[in-house]
Amino acid sequence: MAFSTPISSSYLPRVYSHLSAHDAASETKSRICLSNASSFLQRTLNYKACFPSHLERRESYNFKVSASVTADVSIDEAPVKSSIAKGDTWSIHKFGGTCVGTAQRIQNVAEIVMEDSSERKMVVVSAMAKVTDMMYDLIDRAQSRDDSYELALDAVFEKHKLTALDLLDGDELASFLSTLSLDINNLKAMLRAIYIAGHATESFSDFVVGYGELWSAQMLSSVLRKGGIDCNWMDTREILIVTPAGSNQVDPDYAESEKRLKNWLLQNPSKAIVATGFIASTPQNIPTTLKRDGSDFSAAIMGALFRAQQVTIWTDVDGVYSADPRKVSEAVILNTLSYQEAWEMSYFGANVLHPRTIIPVMRYDIPIVIRNIFNLSAPGTKICRPPVNEQEEKQKLETYVKGFATIDNLALINVEGTGMAGVPGTASAIFGVVKDVGANVIMISQASSEHSVCFAVPEKEVKAVAKALETRFRQALDAGRLSQVAVIPNCSILAAVGQKMASTPGVSATLFNALATANINIRAIAQGCSEYNITVVVKREDCVRALRAVHSRFYLSKTSIAVGIIGPGLIGATLLNQLRDQAAVLKEKSKTDLRVMGILGSRKMLLSDIGIDLSKWKELQEEKGEKADLEKFVQHVHGNHFIPNTVLVDCTASTDVADHYHDWLRTGIHVITPNKKANSGPLDKYLKLRTLQRQSFTHYFYEATVGAGLPIMHTLRDLLQTGDKIIRIEGIFSGTLSYIFNNFVDTRAFSEVVKEARAAGYTEPDPRDDLAGTDVARKVIILARECGLKLELSDIPVQSLVPDPLKATASVDDFMQQLPSFDADIANKRQAAEDAGEVLRYVGVVDVTNQKGLVELQRYNKKHPFAQLSGSDNIIAFTTERYNKQPLIVRGPGAGAEVTAGGVFSDLLRLAKNLGAPSF
Ligand code: ADP
Ligand code: ASP
Ligand code: MG
Repeated sequence: MAFSTPISSSYLPRVYSHLSAHDAASETKSRICLSNASSFLQRTLNYKACFPSHLERRESYNFKVSASVTADVSIDEAPVKSSIAKGDTWSIHKFGGTCVGTAQRIQNVAEIVMEDSSERKMVVVSAMAKVTDMMYDLIDRAQSRDDSYELALDAVFEKHKLTALDLLDGDELASFLSTLSLDINNLKAMLRAIYIAGHATESFSDFVVGYGELWSAQMLSSVLRKGGIDCNWMDTREILIVTPAGSNQVDPDYAESEKRLKNWLLQNPSKAIVATGFIASTPQNIPTTLKRDGSDFSAAIMGALFRAQQVTIWTDVDGVYSADPRKVSEAVILNTLSYQEAWEMSYFGANVLHPRTIIPVMRYDIPIVIRNIFNLSAPGTKICRPPVNEQEEKQKLETYVKGFATIDNLALINVEGTGMAGVPGTASAIFGVVKDVGANVIMISQASSEHSVCFAVPEKEVKAVAKALETRFRQALDAGRLSQVAVIPNCSILAAVGQKMASTPGVSATLFNALATANINIRAIAQGCSEYNITVVVKREDCVRALRAVHSRFYLSKTSIAVGIIGPGLIGATLLNQLRDQAAVLKEKSKTDLRVMGILGSRKMLLSDIGIDLSKWKELQEEKGEKADLEKFVQHVHGNHFIPNTVLVDCTASTDVADHYHDWLRTGIHVITPNKKANSGPLDKYLKLRTLQRQSFTHYFYEATVGAGLPIMHTLRDLLQTGDKIIRIEGIFSGTLSYIFNNFVDTRAFSEVVKEARAAGYTEPDPRDDLAGTDVARKVIILARECGLKLELSDIPVQSLVPDPLKATASVDDFMQQLPSFDADIANKRQAAEDAGEVLRYVGVVDVTNQKGLVELQRYNKKHPFAQLSGSDNIIAFTTERYNKQPLIVRGPGAGAEVTAGGVFSDLLRLAKNLGAPSF
C-alpha cells in the first residue's frame, strides 16, 4: 500500500503490528481522573518548583493552580538545548472547523494570517467543519458492516476536491488532488479491512479521523504560498508525542516533542507553518489524537513549545460567554478570564475551549485570546493571569461569578452505610474500584457523617462502576455494613465558576437561592477549597432551567419571569396594557423582568421565544396567531425559552382552565388568577391545591378574586400569619349590588336603578347573575376557606334578589320588563329600614366563630361605615381579636377592569419578590 502523506507509509505497518499491545496498554493504564477543583484530589502545582528558572521571562511567577494535570509533564527533566528561535517572535493562531468550513472561509483565514505582522507564526487548523464527524461516521458504518461507507467516503472526497478547486490552481492544485486521491484510496482499503473485521480499534479510528486535519492544513498552506508567504505545512504526528492518560485524555511529552520540533525546523526552515491540530503520535509512533475538540490543545502545546507571545483561538463566537450561548441567549461576553477560570469553564462543559488547553500556556504565562472570525470588530476574550490590582480590587458580588457551564449525561453513585464511618481506607477502596473500571469521576461529595460517599461519573460508565463496586463490597453489603450502592441516573452538573467566588460570603447563598426559587432540586453539592467553582448536581431535565435561573440571577435582571396570559378579554387585555406601560420601569428599578411569552385566547394564541411586543399584541395575534391549544401553550411558555420562572395568569372565568392549576403547580409553574372557580369549587380540590402550594416553592396567588384590586386576601393573610384570630368578616363584595343599593334611595324604584346600573355597564349582561348573589357567595367561600373553614359553596345560604317567578324567565329583556312589578316588595323593606334610621345593604358574612357563611340583604344604621358608600365601592370589615372594638376596614372600588387587572399585576410583583426581586 502506498501512502502519500509524508508519514503514512511508515505508519501503516506499525498500526497493524502494535494494535493489540497498544490496546492492552491503554486498558491497563486507564485511571480515574480526579480533576475538578470542586472535587477531591487537588493537585496543587507550584509552578516555580515545576519549571525552574532557565525558562525565560515567564517562569518566575510563583502561583498555585489546581487542575487536572499530571505531574509528569514537566519538560525540565530533559532540557533541550534549543537552537530554534523562541519567544515573542512567534504567534500561534488556531482556526476551528467552522473557520475553515468552506473555500471562502479558508481564504479568509489566509488573509487573517497574512495580516499578522509577527516575525514568525504557526497556524494550527482543525478539519473542515463536520469532517471529523464524517470520518467517525465512516468507521461506524464500516465496522457495522454497512457498505454505504463507500458512498460516505466519496462525499468526503468530493467536499475536499471541490474546496481545493475553488482555492488552488496550477501545481499546488495538482499536487493536493493527487495527495487527496491517494489518501482516499488508502482509506478505502483501510475501511474495507474494518468492514471485514467488523471492528475498528482505537488506533485505527485515530488514524482514519486524523485525515481531516491533514487535508485542511495542506490546503491552507497552499493558499498561503499562493499569497506569497514562505510557508510549510507540518504533520504534527511527527512532532507531538503524547501518552494515554486514562479516560479520554493524553499527556504531552514535552521533552520529546521539543526535540522533534527542533529537528523539523532545521529541515523545514520557514517563518510560517501550518500545522495539523488534533493529531499526534504515541511514543511508539502510533498515530493518535488529542481527543475530540483537541485542536485547541494542539495550539496551546505549540504555544508552549515555542514560548509564543500569544495563542489566538479563532472560532465562531465572540469569545467566552458567561454561559453556553446556545442555552442562554442572554449570556454575555467575558472580556477577561484567569487561566483557572477558563480551565474550570471548559472542564465543566464550555466547549469553546478544550479543557486541557490552559495547562501548557499557563506555564509560561502565554495569553490565549478567543476571537470570532466572523466578527473581527469584537475584541474577544483574553485568558491570562489577572493583573495584581484587579485581584485586589474590591469587587461586586456579581463579578465574583464569571460564568456557568454544564455537563450532561451523568449518573450519581451513592455508596452508603453506617459501616463506613471512621473506617480508614473506604474512600480509597471505592475509588480504587472506579480506577480499575477506568471510569472518569467528575465530582465527589461526602457527607461529614461519613455514612455516604456520592460521586458523579459519565452515564455510559455507571453500570460497570456499580457492578464492580457491588462485587468489591459484596461482603460488606451482605453483612449490612454497607446498605447500598445506589445509582441515580439522568443527572447533570451545573458549575458556577469564578476566582475567589467560593470564599466570598453570599455567592453560594445567592446561587442556591436562585435554584430554590426556580423550584430546582439539588442532588449533590461540591465546593472545593480551590475557590474557583461551586458544583451542583441536578436532574438532567432541570439542567437548562437551572442554568438560566442562576445566570439570570447573577447577570440579568435579578428576577426574570416568563408570563403566559390566558384569556385576553377585558381584564386580560387591561393587564397586558399595564404590563406594557410598566415593564421598563420594573426592569430598571426593581430588577424584575416580566416577559409575556404567550397569550392564549379562545380561538387563537400568540407565542414568542423572546417576549411579545405588548404595544401591538392584538395585531400580532391576528397576523401571527395560531390555533389555540392550551397544552401547547403551557409547554411553550414553560419550556421553550431562556427564563427560569414561569407564571400562568388565568384571566378567564372558566372551570376548565382552573382544573389545570394543580398540574401546573406540580410542574413548578406559578399560577395567578382573578378567576374564582378553583377556590370556590369543590372543597377537596381546593384543599389539594393549597396543600401542594404550601409544600413547594411554587406560588398560587388570587388577590383579585375578592374585591378586585383591593388588598383583601393580602390583609387577611397578614392577619392570619401574624397570629391574629379572625372572628368575623363582613362586607359588600359586589360592586354591582353596592351601586344598586347606594342609589336605591328616596322614591326611586328598584327596577329603575337596576336598569340604570345595567346601562352604565355595572352589571353582568344578565343582571340576574349579580342579583342572585352567587358571585358574592363565591367570595364568601374563598374568604371562609382562607380562614380555615371547610365549607362547600352549597353550605352558604344565599338570599337571592331575583324574585322567584322571574328566575325561570327566558330572556334578559323579559326579566327587565317584568322586574317593575316586584318593586313594591323591596320598596317596603327600604321603608321599614328608613323608619328605623337604617339602610339596606347586600352583604356577605364569614362567621368564623360559628364556622359558617351567609349572603343576605341586611339593614345598617345610617352612621355605619357600610351606609356611607358611594358608586360601586366595596367595603370589607375584619373583626379580629386585635381589631375587636373597631374592625379593620378596607374600602374602595372593587370592580372594573383597571382595578382588577391592577390586583393581578400586584400578585405578579408579589411573585417576583418571592422569587428574589428587591423591593422598589
Ligand atoms: P471550533 O470548531 O471553532 O473549535 P467549537 O464548536 O468547538 O468551535 O466551540 C465553539 C462553540 O462553543 C460555540 O459555537 C458555542 O456554541 C459553544 N460554547 C459553549 N459554551 C460556550 C461559552 N461559555 N462561551 C462561548 N461558546 C460556548
Ligand atoms: N477536528 C477535531 C474534532 O472535531 C478537533 C477539533 O476540531 O478541535 O474533534
Ligand atoms: Mg473546538
